[in-house]
Amino acid sequence: MPSPADTHENAASRATGTELVRFENVTKRFGGTTVLDRLDFSVATGKHVTLIGPSGSGKTTILRLLMTLVKPDEGVITVDGDRLTHEERNGRLVPAGERHVREVRKKIGMVFQHFNLFPNMKVLRNVTEAPVHVLGLSKDEAEQRARELIELVGLSEQLDKYPSQLSGGQQQRVAIARALAMRPQVLLLDEVTSALDPELVAGVLDVLRDIAQSTDITLLVVTHEMSFARDISDAVLMFDKGRIVESGTPEKIFSDPEHERTREFLSTVL
Ligand code: ADP
Repeated sequence: MPSPADTHENAASRATGTELVRFENVTKRFGGTTVLDRLDFSVATGKHVTLIGPSGSGKTTILRLLMTLVKPDEGVITVDGDRLTHEERNGRLVPAGERHVREVRKKIGMVFQHFNLFPNMKVLRNVTEAPVHVLGLSKDEAEQRARELIELVGLSEQLDKYPSQLSGGQQQRVAIARALAMRPQVLLLDEVTSALDPELVAGVLDVLRDIAQSTDITLLVVTHEMSFARDISDAVLMFDKGRIVESGTPEKIFSDPEHERTREFLSTVL
């Protein structure tokens, strides 16, 4: 009989490809409250894994741990074989230093709920800024790549606009292009449509569906858009109170969930 950790891991990794992201026994507390409780799961390269569950169940904290915006109290987080939490020095494992974290972080991109674009830069420069200054790409190289990505998100006509001249949906599509411009191995999407007016949501989800289909990027997604989750996910992890209560294919989780808590949650969002 496999342990719950094994089960979740297999569902997320699907025994294909190598593990790109791995959480091992990760615990996170805020004050006296445990928000992630000995969490184990992994995401295989190229797979799309969606985290669902009630508000406050710890989903966003998982993405913030990967972005090193917060640190785990216990456990190990690995990205593409490199520990985010620790590094090896002189054959010994020590807490990760700033430089090590910066290197591992380059493998990860994130799109936030609030687009967080640079307000004083036009669309093109929003997308080229980090590749030039962080990756060291030439301006020409960065612009060529940025134009391709801006086309991918359907905004070729808006290159010369400032964020304030765009709709929320368009701004979010720029944020997606900007994240992809850093060529991350894994893209984290945190409720990327929840700050948008309802009529703008579909356009952003269509762009993401397209990216999920047409690229080989690994996705770790937090969303309340269940039909989107069903469309793009290889695996869905259902969270409650900082633990995975159930995981499986989207067909299984959405059509035939085993856990009462999953059924209850889905009845509130479907
Ligand atoms: P979800 O994304 O599932 O809604 P979160 O990961 O945002 O859940 O939050 C999990 C719990 O952690 C919540 O109870 C939240 O209030 C708490 N929390 C998150 N971030 C902080 C923080 N920086 N300080 C204190 N508590 C936090």
